[in-house]
Amino acid sequence: MADDLHTRYMAAARIWHKHTSACGSCTKHEGPQCSAGARLYESFARLQDAYLGRQRRAR
Ligand SMILES: [Zn+2]
Repeated sequence: MADDLHTRYMAAARIWHKHTSACGSCTKHEGPQCSAGARLYESFARLQDAYLGRQRRAR
């Protein structure tokens, strides 16, 4: 189950990073600059929070 969350987190990160190189406006450092990028970044950030939050609670 943790692996599933990790898989979705990695997939969201990959899609977001792919968008940053394809978009020309959004960057990994500046964050999302277009509405499509904002959606991708939001789901990536949400999964990252969930994933890192679970890691922290597991200790
Ligand atoms: Zn974009």
